[in-house]
Amino acid sequence: MNPLIDKYNRRIKYIRISVTDRCDLKCLYCKPKDSDSHSRRRAILRFEEITRIVRCFADLGVGRVRITGGEPLVRKDVVSLIGQLSNIEGIEDLAMTTNATLLSKYAIELKNAGLKRVNISLDTLEPETFKIICGGGELKDVLKGIRKAVNVGLTPVNINTVVMKGLNDDEIVDIVNFAIENSANIRFIECMPVRHTVNLSKERFIPAKEIKSLVESHFELEPAKSSGGGTASYFTIKSAIYNPQSTIKIGFISPVTQHFCESCNRVRLTAEGILRLCLGYKDGIDLRGYIRSGISDESLKEIFIKAIQDKPQGHQFSNDKCIPIEQSMSLIGG
Ligand code: SAM
Repeated sequence: MNPLIDKYNRRIKYIRISVTDRCDLKCLYCKPKDSDSHSRRRAILRFEEITRIVRCFADLGVGRVRITGGEPLVRKDVVSLIGQLSNIEGIEDLAMTTNATLLSKYAIELKNAGLKRVNISLDTLEPETFKIICGGGELKDVLKGIRKAVNVGLTPVNINTVVMKGLNDDEIVDIVNFAIENSANIRFIECMPVRHTVNLSKERFIPAKEIKSLVESHFELEPAKSSGGGTASYFTIKSAIYNPQSTIKIGFISPVTQHFCESCNRVRLTAEGILRLCLGYKDGIDLRGYIRSGISDESLKEIFIKAIQDKPQGHQFSNDKCIPIEQSMSLIGG
């Protein structure tokens, strides 16, 4: 039996782990140039601490792990962490979310170390818009990373696009076509309100329903047979213009207009070792403190079981009653 069932009968099967709050990009909606400073190195969980936490969660029935950040590929030796995690019994799905600027360099090593698949952020196909949204970096590196990920079999590759009015909403069809050409799934995400980007998310916000209508003006969609078990509602293309054989999925993720809290099966571990039970709540449990004071595995597991009982029913950001996320996603782990 999996003891990680909360009081709303949700079974926790999935942990997202931020391995660094550093990022080589400064995306407008996530971590703009003048935002939070970085955590000191000692404050960040060491690989053996992360591995221990995951092993304890795996013993309690958690089988899915996603490594994220910040940008996980800027953390030194992250490939060796992937190797350690992939050897833990019970971990069936080991994935990473990355901006892919460094992915072409590491894709093969990551695959060999046991990484199964990647989600890649791609908000635009225009180099100039890329600089505006991402605050730097080179689009061509990201595109190279996407192709490499597909080639080495870090699949399915999911492309994540945060849609923003007046910035990239005119590129939605091009991005779908890019996904088709590269055999990647594409997921369009509503821009969530984060404390220091809250004005952007208000001014640029486009509801998932509208994004879907934009896609449907060019592609005939039908509900996908398998949902993927995550947060997106998925569709396949009935008649892809450029590739009628395409089997890619198009997902729409609506954390603002239609949250999916009732089926939430995840917890998050921040780079500093705070276990967060809900994206919308700042509070968490300081696992780093427990681990560095010498706690046993059994006591750690008891803390997890008790913590899950306090998982909030859901987050509270919606269009009219907006309570923004307190910290940047790069700190929490997006
Ligand atoms: N650096 C990696 C990357 O760029 O994919 C991983 C971290 S990033 C915080 C992970 C995801 O968070 C990205 O896919 C991004 O789209 C999402 N994200 C960050 N801030 C967001 C916001 N305000 N609204 C919606 N999605 C956001």
